[in-house]
Amino acid sequence: MPGPGTYLPDATEGVGRVEDLPAPRVVRRSRNFPRRICPRCARSAYRLRTATRKLHDLGDPVGGRPRELHITYSQHRCRHCNHYFNADMTDLALPNGHYTHRVVNTAVRIVVEDGLPYRTASWHLWRDHRVFVPFATIQNWVEASGEKSGTASPARVPRRRARRVQRVHRRR
Ligand SMILES: [Zn+2]
Repeated sequence: MPGPGTYLPDATEGVGRVEDLPAPRVVRRSRNFPRRICPRCARSAYRLRTATRKLHDLGDPVGGRPRELHITYSQHRCRHCNHYFNADMTDLALPNGHYTHRVVNTAVRIVVEDGLPYRTASWHLWRDHRVFVPFATIQNWVEASGEKSGTASPARVPRRRARRVQRVHRRR
């Protein structure tokens, strides 16, 4: 665990409202396909329409800006079994999630491995990774990762020496 270097106050210290945060850098991704295999009956399903989804990703600590993925994806209807589904995006995030796996994994890791309290982890994510995550959301992720240990949950991390390394980050 590397020690801290020269102390420089964060430029956004004291910023309390999401609206006041710097504008995100938008990165466009596509999961837009004319046809996909139906996950229910394994036959081919045509695209019905396209839609967009926004995901908060780990940001750019050098430029100080958050990073947001804007994903254009196809929605499909299977003619054979009448199943509606979206093009697969589970490589980027969980269904209905607002954050990428990278954000979830980083948040869980700094709580479980580094032993940071939820509120401190939330501040840490903003300060070092430029992603704003409410502490209650981090708590949900950590609890989910604990309950689901043994499954293939992407948020799962090893629980070795959890909370042994208690680092104290003081805000001024
Ligand atoms: Zn089907």
